Amino acid sequence: MNKIALIVAAGSGSRMKSEIPKQFLLLNNKPVLYYSIKAFLDAYENIEIILVLPAEHIPKGQEIIDGYFDSSKFKITAGGRTRFHSVQMGLSLINDEAIVFVHDGVRCLVTSGLIKRCYESALEIGTAVPSVECLDSLRMITRNGNKIIDRNKIKLVQTPQTFHSKILLPAFEIDYKEQFTDEASVVEAFGLKINLIEGEVNNIKITTPQDLKLASLLLPE
Ligand code: C5P
Repeated sequence: MNKIALIVAAGSGSRMKSEIPKQFLLLNNKPVLYYSIKAFLDAYENIEIILVLPAEHIPKGQEIIDGYFDSSKFKITAGGRTRFHSVQMGLSLINDEAIVFVHDGVRCLVTSGLIKRCYESALEIGTAVPSVECLDSLRMITRNGNKIIDRNKIKLVQTPQTFHSKILLPAFEIDYKEQFTDEASVVEAFGLKINLIEGEVNNIKITTPQDLKLASLLLPE
């Protein structure tokens, strides 16, 4: 089956308090995005990469591709207003049937092992969404204050969220809603069940300067 990694890296990274979006910041001398891309190319020789970038930073993305990778495996597009719209832009470049991994460009610690488990499960069931247990206690804000949520009933969702293109392409024709913060929410609204698989604790999303420090410690030699 064809394999496509749709890597969304079109966010502005306002929470990082940096001029340069977090996906382009350096981690052990290479851009964060380099590691996210490399993980997919290492997992499968025949994988295609669709890279969604901020319009104004397309040259920066192209530099990473030219510097480190075989550019024939890549397609590039500018992103949209929200992550949902950025994924839509990337999906518009898919013509053939494939297993599609939608991955946050800032989850640079994703492993080949997780990518392969997502593929096998999506091939069999149609969807595969990695998630991990919630280890903190949780409270929900209510009108009168707050109340406990049973953390055993909660899963923290990661990427690559992986789907057969026959599911993902029609699902993304839906009108945008604010709760569409990931692909699982869109596919669920389309009427399908989400197959959760075991994610990885180290598969963190680089969001703050502290995350960048942590990632540099967790990065394999
Ligand atoms: O903002 P958030 O941390 O949820 O972003 C997750 C991923 O989605 C990041 O890799 C970011 O670059 C990407 N994104 C995007 N287009 C947007 C907003 C976020 O590609 N408009």
